[in-house]
Amino acid sequence: MFGQIKGSGLWKKAMRIKSTISYLLFLCILLGSFQNLVMAKNQNPKPKLVRAGVVKNRQPLPQNAFYLLPLTAIKPRGWLRRQLQTQADGMSGHLDEIWPDVGQASAWLGGTGEGWERGPYYADGLIPLAYLLDDPKLIAKARKWVNWTLENQRPDGGIGPAKNKDWWPNMIMLKVLTQYEEATNDPRVIPLMTKYFQYHLRQMDQQPLQEWATVRWADEVVSLLWLYNRTGDKGLLELARKLHGQAFDWRRHYENFPFTTKTTKEQIGLKAGANPSKALSAHGVNIAMALKTSPVWSLVSNDQADRKALYQQFGELDKYHLLPNGMHSADEHLAGTDPTRGVELCAVVEAMFSLEHNIAILGDPALGDRLEKITFNALPATLSGDMWSHQYDQQPNQVMCSLHPRDWVSNGPESNLFGFEPHFGCCTANLHQGWPKFASSLWMATPDDGLAAVSYAPNDVQIVVKKGVRVQITEETDYPFREKVDFTVNPASAVAFPLQLRIPAWAEGAIVSVNGKAMEGVQPNTFYKIERTWKKGDRVELTLPMQPRASKWMQNSVAIERGPLVYSLKIGEDWRKIKEGLKKPAPSPASDWEVHPTTAWNYGLLLDPANLKSSVQVIEKPVGAIPFSTDGAPVELRIKGRRLPQWELVNGSAGPLPQSPVTSREPEETLTLIPYGSAKLRITAFPQLAGQ
Ligand SMILES: [Zn+2]
Repeated sequence: MFGQIKGSGLWKKAMRIKSTISYLLFLCILLGSFQNLVMAKNQNPKPKLVRAGVVKNRQPLPQNAFYLLPLTAIKPRGWLRRQLQTQADGMSGHLDEIWPDVGQASAWLGGTGEGWERGPYYADGLIPLAYLLDDPKLIAKARKWVNWTLENQRPDGGIGPAKNKDWWPNMIMLKVLTQYEEATNDPRVIPLMTKYFQYHLRQMDQQPLQEWATVRWADEVVSLLWLYNRTGDKGLLELARKLHGQAFDWRRHYENFPFTTKTTKEQIGLKAGANPSKALSAHGVNIAMALKTSPVWSLVSNDQADRKALYQQFGELDKYHLLPNGMHSADEHLAGTDPTRGVELCAVVEAMFSLEHNIAILGDPALGDRLEKITFNALPATLSGDMWSHQYDQQPNQVMCSLHPRDWVSNGPESNLFGFEPHFGCCTANLHQGWPKFASSLWMATPDDGLAAVSYAPNDVQIVVKKGVRVQITEETDYPFREKVDFTVNPASAVAFPLQLRIPAWAEGAIVSVNGKAMEGVQPNTFYKIERTWKKGDRVELTLPMQPRASKWMQNSVAIERGPLVYSLKIGEDWRKIKEGLKKPAPSPASDWEVHPTTAWNYGLLLDPANLKSSVQVIEKPVGAIPFSTDGAPVELRIKGRRLPQWELVNGSAGPLPQSPVTSREPEETLTLIPYGSAKLRITAFPQLAGQ
């Protein structure tokens, strides 16, 4: 039967149809492969080795003091690279595997899950972490987030999950996209952002900024100006002005600052489900984000008063809410100067991001001091050494991390546990941007095509300077644990360009030498400028003397600082696991911990403020794998003190701070202080003993 058909005309016809189908199928496959190829090419654009170009402000924007370098121009080395690797090995490199909110179900990946800020928050740290470490596995993880957004822009220009009607999470995704574009030069980013901003401009009147977006709007302006400097599209400046028109007026808020003490829920109008503008303006994370609002807006307004507004803002906040870790207290909302008040991790990383932009715009070295203080102290303090657990709220005087209800404005008792998602998951999603963005803003370009070192940590930087010459500088240092920073300058060919070094305000007697010759006129609280023709192998040595300093805090208490580090009493720690890490969707070491003290903490210090050097002994230890851990602290200070039996534990926190000077009949002891960021339990603001 088969043979009969085979020989028939019917068979020939069937074969013709089959071959036509095969041909069509072949064409389809070919076309599909081509499409796949194109898509694969788009999804995996070859990362440029180093993006050397710096994009400056375009008219009519005024010039910045400095310009941030494109992501990947700076490569971390030494302890900073190890810190980023610890981060990648910890929660940051695995969060998508263990937390559904940023897992495959995320609506930012096309799923039905979380579709607000958590996916973009995670990507905002994962992108720079992945590209700074140049880790293919992390890069693949990070790319998922940008690819979904890039491939799913709606015809009207909208981005992100269709169910999200809030402008705020899109503002984070825009920051993600700008970093990604700098690292990869992916040609899809700029057209998508252009179309998105046109969409926002069209929608503004019918869908104005609401709630969080009204106080966080400067984040959109940062990305909008990034695009304007690349395309010159004047519509973007119109959008910036309209955003300003719909936004909360932070400048006016600080001209008549209403929160001069610890706030209360009643005072800020906080009720269940309601978040009025008064509460939003007392909210710690919003305040940290808003530190950049006036400087960023000044680029559009071109109004000097906007540039000065930052100092009014810092002035009010520092006067009423500053803590020894460089942050403003806010255990959700502004909380005064008591060192047992909390600071949220989101506020820490957002203050860093604000300061990085503020330094670029204003070029004020004091802002660099502040950035380093927060980065080297408040950031690592609130993360476990292995970066698998974090706190929502840290305390400068933190003698027990436990479920005790604390005297906080509006946070719950679990806020200062070290855990996976203590209190609320925003910090779980947002903490990842801290270290990578700090690393990628260590250097900035100057308007005259030179380089400025605005913060110090070991790295390599590559950038094109004057006359289009590519320069590579290797910065070798164990700063902030040591005083010396060494630079080796390697231009492709001899070239003249300015090199500026930030001399911190605390660095009296700082020394800059070039090829062994000491330079003149080095002053604290300035950028020291070296103008010369640089040749391959030129060496610059910077010594920043770190004399111990005593700063004054609440109740006339005292904190010991040295260089950019704040020092805290080393307290024995007993880590008690109170909740195992999640078992699903994957086993996770991200457990929840209480930390209990195993040694005394209630000490007053014996100091001679006039001769602090004689009161403090400095002991350097190796800078090991995890410097920001109690046992790995690379510096210890020895100082004398006595117990204060009347200073006791109250609800898990150090009780009311005694007014200094204090007296004690207890025996004199030698105390060990370690960097604030290394001490997970600590006393930082100490009572001072009388008669010294
Ligand atoms: Zn948070």
